Amino acid sequence: MKLLHKLFISYLAVVITGLVVLALSTAFVAPVTFTQQMNHMGGNINSMMGQHRQELTDEIESSFRNSLTNALAIAGIAATLAAGIVSWFVSYRIVRPINALVALSQRIANGHYEQRLHLATGDELSELVDNFNRMAASLAETEVMRQRLLGDVTHELKTPLTSIKGYMEGLQDGVLPATPETFQLIHHEADRLQRLVQDLQELSRVEAGQIPLEIVACSAGQIALPVLERMRPQFREKGITLKSTIPDDLPPIRADVDRTAQVLTNLLGNALQYTSRGGTVTLTVLKRDNQLCFSIHDSGIGLEASDLERIFQRFYRVDKSRSRTSGGSGIGLTIAKQLVEAQGGTILAESAGLSKGSQFSFTLPLA
Ligand code: ADP
Repeated sequence: MKLLHKLFISYLAVVITGLVVLALSTAFVAPVTFTQQMNHMGGNINSMMGQHRQELTDEIESSFRNSLTNALAIAGIAATLAAGIVSWFVSYRIVRPINALVALSQRIANGHYEQRLHLATGDELSELVDNFNRMAASLAETEVMRQRLLGDVTHELKTPLTSIKGYMEGLQDGVLPATPETFQLIHHEADRLQRLVQDLQELSRVEAGQIPLEIVACSAGQIALPVLERMRPQFREKGITLKSTIPDDLPPIRADVDRTAQVLTNLLGNALQYTSRGGTVTLTVLKRDNQLCFSIHDSGIGLEASDLERIFQRFYRVDKSRSRTSGGSGIGLTIAKQLVEAQGGTILAESAGLSKGSQFSFTLPLA
């Protein structure tokens, strides 16, 4: 049975019960009170009418019963009709948004995530509709991200594959000479493909929370100094000054040494890549409240305000062509953000604008 009919029948049952109780109480109580009233008046009637008293009482009693029954019948029909109309209206008001929700859920189940419902009744039903709309919005967002991810991955894989295919065809047709340089170009593209697949694998593992973190109490120097030593030759080679400020008296943090080193390597690698010769990159570690903050500041190309929030998104690159030639896939910062957040920290990008340098900072909790 439909909810509308259930509600309507339940209202009707209440009305009928009321009517039955009213009719029964009238049938049993009214004649008794009426007779008592008549007896009270009995003395006066006796003296006025003598032997006709009984006939008169019977007649008055029967006309009282008849008029009461008629009045009850008319009132009963009118009350049932009025109650029926009101209960139908109320049931309809309750059931209509529920029916709309049922229809909406079916459309969403069929993949139409853009559908929304508007209801401002100010009760639990409009709260339910609001929550339902929010759920539909988050499903729509997930779907857009899924489609974009699929498109991005396909595009990223296609570019090096097309290059490799082009070089191979060039070699076969004799357009390209079979020199070590040509093979180096092919190797470079294959390398990029391999790096991209590795990044994707890492990203999917990080996003699925499948990277086991070995959280231990450690010092900032223990993490940062080996990374700085490892990267110093690359900075020297590109003519960029690498500075660091890591005070000795910093309290220890709780972190995964290898994963934090990976984040630092990524941020220093980006600073190296997006800073031109003669520039400076500085790593600073300082205590802020109950956290340590690692900041990598560079004097490089900088970032526009609109890009600051988006660079942590997968595959987001500010200058796609430039990043592609340098091998960047736009996944590095996404992985860095996930790794920092998995360790209970936050990551932030700041820049005063294009060609004004950038600063990437991440925090990790104290031990
Ligand atoms: P990629 O591998 O392309 O460098 P990332 O996720 O590491 O990917 O970075 C995303 C984008 O953020 C880069 O393509 C670049 O445009 C921008 N970016 C990252 N670091 C810096 C930086 N230090 N200065 C300027 N732009 C940067």
